[in-house]
Amino acid sequence: MRLLGVEVSRIDLALSAPVGTSAGTHKVRPVVVVRLDCDLGQGWGESGALAEGTVVDPPAAAVWSALVRAGARRLLAASSGLDGELPPAAEVAGLYGSTAVARAVAATVEMAVLDAELTAAGIGLGSRLGAGAVPVPAGGLVGIPEDRRVESLLDGVDAVAERGLRRVRLKIEPGWDAAPVAAVRRRHPDLPLQADANGAYRWPGTGAEAAGNLVALDDYGLVCIEQPLPPADLGAHAELADRLATPICLDESLTTPSRVVDAIRSGACEVACLKPSRLGGLLAARRAQEACRTAGVPAFVGGFFETGLGRSANASLAGLAGFTLPGDLTDPGGYLVENPWEYPPLHRGMVGPAGWPGVGGEVDTALLARRRGAVERFEAPTRGTHPTPPPETST
Ligand code: MG
Repeated sequence: MRLLGVEVSRIDLALSAPVGTSAGTHKVRPVVVVRLDCDLGQGWGESGALAEGTVVDPPAAAVWSALVRAGARRLLAASSGLDGELPPAAEVAGLYGSTAVARAVAATVEMAVLDAELTAAGIGLGSRLGAGAVPVPAGGLVGIPEDRRVESLLDGVDAVAERGLRRVRLKIEPGWDAAPVAAVRRRHPDLPLQADANGAYRWPGTGAEAAGNLVALDDYGLVCIEQPLPPADLGAHAELADRLATPICLDESLTTPSRVVDAIRSGACEVACLKPSRLGGLLAARRAQEACRTAGVPAFVGGFFETGLGRSANASLAGLAGFTLPGDLTDPGGYLVENPWEYPPLHRGMVGPAGWPGVGGEVDTALLARRRGAVERFEAPTRGTHPTPPPETST
C-alpha cells in the first residue's frame, strides 16, 4: 500500500462536565489526530494527550508541534525508503525517539498505520493484536466534585452504578480520601471500587499528604489504590505497598514496557493501569500487558477521555488475556459533548466487540470539519526522490 500524504489536525472538543483530579480539572478536550492517505484507503490515529500535560504526559500542544515539526515527515521519509510503501505498524515506534513526546507521537502514528493496514485488509484490530473479537468489561470514573460535597460524589457514583458499569474509579487527594470513600462504600457495599490519587501523596510525608493516611482506606475493600505517590519513586511505592493491605496500582509510573517490568520486580506494582498513548502505542501496550500476565499482576486499560477512535482501539486491546480488570471503556458520548467516531455499544457494562475492520468505526467528517482548530498537510515526495529524514531528537 502506497502512502500518499499525512494530515495532522487538532479537533477542539468539549467535555460534557468538568472532571476534577488531584492534578487539576479537565474541561476541554483538544484531540490531535493523524490521517494517512494511501492508495488503498485511509488510516486514522488519535493522540491521548490532554489539554494540560503532567510530569509524565505531554500536553496536546506539544504532541501537535512534534508531529508538525518532524513526526509526519519522518513517516514519509521512512516510506520513501520503502519506495513509497507504507511502513509496517511494527516498525513505526522505531522511527521515533524515547522521550514522552516521541512516544506520544509514535502511538498516534502507529494507530493510523494499523488502521490503514487493517482497513485495507478487512481485519479488525482485536484479531490483529491476538485478542480476538470479544466483549470486555467497562468501568466508570467519578472525579472530585467541583462543590466538594459527598452528596454530589454519591450522585455521580449512583449514575455509574445504574448504567451497570463493572467498577468505579474515584479520584482522591489529600483531604478528600477516607471520608468520601467510606460514604460510597456505605451506599454501594458490593460495587468494585478503586481510588486514584494521581501521585498526590508523599512517603512518609506529613499532615494530610502523608501516604500513611491511606491505611484508613484498607477498611473499604478497594480493588486498588492507584498512583498514590509521584511517578519516579518506585522504591517508595514498594514500601507503601508493604504497609497497605490494599494493592498499589501504578499508572503514571508506567511509561514504557521495560519500566512496567522494573516496577513489578521492585514490588511497587501490584496492579497496572496501562495506557497505550503513554507507553508508545498499542503494540508497546500489548508487550506491557504480557509482562503483567507473566508476573500474575492484574491489569486494565486506562483512558484519556478519547473519542470513539482511540477508545475503540483501547476496547480491542482490552480483549488480551492480561487485561483482567475492567478498563476505562465507557461510551465517549458520556463525557464528550460531541464524539466524531462511532463506538461499539455497551450492554450491561460490557463493550464490543467492534464490528468493523481497522481501528475505528464510522467517522462524522462534517463534525470533524466543524471542530477542526488547525490542520497541516504533508505530501509524499515525488517518486525517485529520497529526502533526508528529520532528526530523531526533534520529536
Ligand atoms: Mg490514574
